Amino acid sequence: MYYNKESIIYLDGEWVKAIEAKIDLFSQTLHYGSGVFEGIRAYDSSAGPNVFKAKEHYERLLYSAKKMGINMTHTVNELVNLTYELLDRNNISDAYIRPLVFLGANMKLAKTFDTHIMMAAWEWEPYSGEDPLRVMVSSFERPNPKSVPIDAKISGHYINSILATNEAKRLGYDEALLLDSNGYVAEGPGANFFFVKDGIIYTPALGNILPGITRATIIEYAMELGYPVVEKFFTFDEIKGAETAFFTGTATEIASISSINDIKFEKDWKETIAYELFLMYRQRVNSNHVVL
Ligand code: PMP
Repeated sequence: MYYNKESIIYLDGEWVKAIEAKIDLFSQTLHYGSGVFEGIRAYDSSAGPNVFKAKEHYERLLYSAKKMGINMTHTVNELVNLTYELLDRNNISDAYIRPLVFLGANMKLAKTFDTHIMMAAWEWEPYSGEDPLRVMVSSFERPNPKSVPIDAKISGHYINSILATNEAKRLGYDEALLLDSNGYVAEGPGANFFFVKDGIIYTPALGNILPGITRATIIEYAMELGYPVVEKFFTFDEIKGAETAFFTGTATEIASISSINDIKFEKDWKETIAYELFLMYRQRVNSNHVVL
């Protein structure tokens, strides 16, 4: 699914076949989650693939690396250019791109200076599918930002996301919604959260969430359309009575939510301002082809 016999990945300055690439089983990242990564999408456009918000994603990758004390040798521009080359070498335009910065052999918890980078791309449908999601408030909460830099995309953080996803699926839901350590709504396991009430778009304030690039994009589009956006801390109770709600993320794109804890939203998704934003997103991702 992620690669076949022909797929090429970027690994530490070389282009190698995915099936032949090797990593050290004593990698500190494999054992303890001390890597950083990104999830990026490219869309086919009339001018070839458009890597959506490429610069923003690589800026966040460098930020995450810094938070983990990982020294990066690649610049944002180099990473963007490598991404276009990766798509070209694999002859794909509509793709999900996964850069991962991982560390070499070290079974101690001390800083590892041996740094590696890989980048792969594959074709991937929207992460949550097309149907509105039945969501449950998770029994797991997002990690306290005093215990980990929660605003960085660090591999180990995703244990929390996997536990919440598994719980939701086990209980018959499509997706989880996690609260923060103060009891406010935070985000999904791999996506940011929005709801619309009385014509106002609400999303959790920064602090306990990953500052999503899609989240910022949706806020930008909403402001462009003249819809008020409020970033604040709110409880699950405040969502009740909302018109609609949705998740945003690079893999997820924009996924509508039909209910949370079996409480249904009032409006049909297609009759909400969120749907307008969804259409705007769909249209924009295929344009503004930028190669740095
Ligand atoms: N929150 C979490 C925990 C995520 O993993 C993601 C996906 N990167 C997001 C939010 C959405 O971020 P983005 O829009 O930048 O993909």
